[in-house]
Amino acid sequence: MELQRLRSLALLFLHEKSLEPAGGLELDDAMRTRIAALACRPILDLGLDYYDNFISVIIYPEEFLVRNRESVDEAGVVHTRDEILSGEAWEQGPVILAWQDVDASGRGNGYDVVAHECAHKLDLLDGDMNGRPPLNRGMRADEWAESFQTAYNDLIRRLDLGEEPWLDPYAAEEPAEFFAVCAEMFFDIPDAFRTEYPALYAQLAAFFRQDPARSFDAIVRDHPSYSSSAR
Ligand SMILES: [Zn+2]
Repeated sequence: MELQRLRSLALLFLHEKSLEPAGGLELDDAMRTRIAALACRPILDLGLDYYDNFISVIIYPEEFLVRNRESVDEAGVVHTRDEILSGEAWEQGPVILAWQDVDASGRGNGYDVVAHECAHKLDLLDGDMNGRPPLNRGMRADEWAESFQTAYNDLIRRLDLGEEPWLDPYAAEEPAEFFAVCAEMFFDIPDAFRTEYPALYAQLAAFFRQDPARSFDAIVRDHPSYSSSAR
């Protein structure tokens, strides 16, 4: 049932968005479908309108080099550097992805570059990339902030202690990255994410209007062998 809904939404996505291969990539139908399905998973219960802030998805074969990227530090000094990226999302403009990373995404390893970049786009819906998308009716900003802060502090504390954090340390860069990395975990390893950060999981479930860990529970319940082999 959910798969059917995802399929329909992915078709609509492919109809409305423009998937543009770059860097010599040959994009076939199976690849287009995979990109669309991964992109639609976060908005399955929100609707395609949530992606009104982009039309194009540009796909490179591998990680791509962005030259002369400018950033402004806290002192107001502009720095220029080259960056190698697996994905990128701007407030205005396309989502950019590396196919190699799309291919590795959504396979239950806690990695999903498509969910990550799409989460940035959702975050940007209110104009600010600050780790907080526009909350749904009935959600409370203070509860969102508290659950995020608690999990964020926990990650920083573990990094300071030199512990191997289960969450990509990149999430500690800034709140926007934290939100995007958590969105990856929420969809790709929901059961583990819910165990680590239950309050934050509940907030993301309220925002995305989905409860992927519950579907995971059902899979484990229906296939007992899964739980012993997969964990
Ligand atoms: Zn990011």
